[in-house]
Amino acid sequence: MRVLKFGGTSVGDVDSISSVLEIVRRQMDQPLVLVFSAMGKTTDQLAAVGELASQGKLEESLGVISALRGYHFEIIGQLLKNGEAKRRVTSFCDQTFRSLEEMARGMSVLSDFSLAVQDRVLGLGEILSTRILAAFFLQENLPVEWVDARELVVTDEQHTQAEPLFEETRARCREVLLPLLKKKRIPLTQGYIARSKSGAITTLGRGGSDYTASLIGAALEAEEIQIWTDVDGIMTADPSLIPQAKNIPVMSFNEAAELAFFGARVLHPKTLVPAVERGIPVRVRNTRRPEGEGTLILAEAPGNGQRVKSIAYKEGMTLVNLVSTRMFKAHGFLKQIFEIFDRFRVSADLVATSEVSVAVAIYDTARLPLVIQELQQYGKITVKPRQAVVCVVGEKLKETPGIVGQVFQDLSDVRVSMLSLGGSEINLSFVIDENDLPTVISRLHRRFFEQGNGAPEDVPPHDLHAYEEVTQ
Ligand code: ASP
Ligand code: MG
Repeated sequence: MRVLKFGGTSVGDVDSISSVLEIVRRQMDQPLVLVFSAMGKTTDQLAAVGELASQGKLEESLGVISALRGYHFEIIGQLLKNGEAKRRVTSFCDQTFRSLEEMARGMSVLSDFSLAVQDRVLGLGEILSTRILAAFFLQENLPVEWVDARELVVTDEQHTQAEPLFEETRARCREVLLPLLKKKRIPLTQGYIARSKSGAITTLGRGGSDYTASLIGAALEAEEIQIWTDVDGIMTADPSLIPQAKNIPVMSFNEAAELAFFGARVLHPKTLVPAVERGIPVRVRNTRRPEGEGTLILAEAPGNGQRVKSIAYKEGMTLVNLVSTRMFKAHGFLKQIFEIFDRFRVSADLVATSEVSVAVAIYDTARLPLVIQELQQYGKITVKPRQAVVCVVGEKLKETPGIVGQVFQDLSDVRVSMLSLGGSEINLSFVIDENDLPTVISRLHRRFFEQGNGAPEDVPPHDLHAYEEVTQ
């Protein structure tokens, strides 16, 4: 049994949807479950609908709805042949857009786009896409069956960032999906949307469809989870910055998990957890180039001698520095500091400490002012916005002496504000000014991927086992 998940770009136009059909057809010799995102940029647009309406710009909001309606009906028109199924889908979508208009009026009157409302509005994209796709697949003689993901994924009550309740979700998935698979049907469902224990509509956070696929795969003990997207798997660096970036054929769960936070463009950070726990391989593949092998993520990837697997980065980070002489030899100090972060649910993405200071890099700064207010009693605070974290990842880093020197060899003119060799020892991260990012990433990529430096034949001589393998 395999779970196949297709992202927004994979179902964003008729050509991509036709490739999806072929991709599914080719794997129909075994049981499949299909998970879909909203079409193209629908979710962003739905967010705009709510933001505009709640700011009193109702006309603009209705304009976005009308564009979304046009976009979906255009795809319906091209995909579905005239007939009963097309009539039903058309009337369903029509109703959905009408109720969206009603919601926009409500949000505008109440100036309300609260988190619970966001979940209701943003979740509509997946409902629309799966209704249309289910009708199309049936028309093309694929035995799909539309399943409501809100009956599969059970979460807590945290709107827009709901956490799945694993036991309940597992039980629901098995109860609903196994009988369908037994009847040789192909369940077709939505990513991202879910329902809380109390029955409210929730979502798993933006980009959460991967997470849904992983939850379903784990629940059904799938043989493989495939994440179909618009890139050739996980790359040695962001291809929009480094055009010569290469695809990484195999990597370990740990490496991918380190990259998930940084390379969030490819995988949702939490995606891998349910799959890792059950040892299910996850394959990231490109809908536009289905012949490519993509990237296979395994619990433990076989070594290929490559010291550095990938160079990732995250912009928009803020660096907070706390200098305090009170910290000197005082135990319990760090605990107090991090309790403050914890209380305001601000997650510290990268941390370095010394005897008298703590440096913390933070991505989500919405509640940071509250934290700073409290931290002030402990010492002097400085805040640096527009920072970037650069992250060099590879299972072999821990076995490579001198790796820190190698990473910084070409960066002597760059100001590095913080450095951390991750606890897992497979991740060396440092903070730089956002403006230095293109230079730093391209120099690192050149060093590790364009000079044969990280290549398999370039195994350090002290590593006797690897050496033996090469010479035998
Ligand atoms: N449609 C949702 C989003 O754009 C979920 C996803 O695509 O994974 O965030
Ligand atoms: Mg998406």
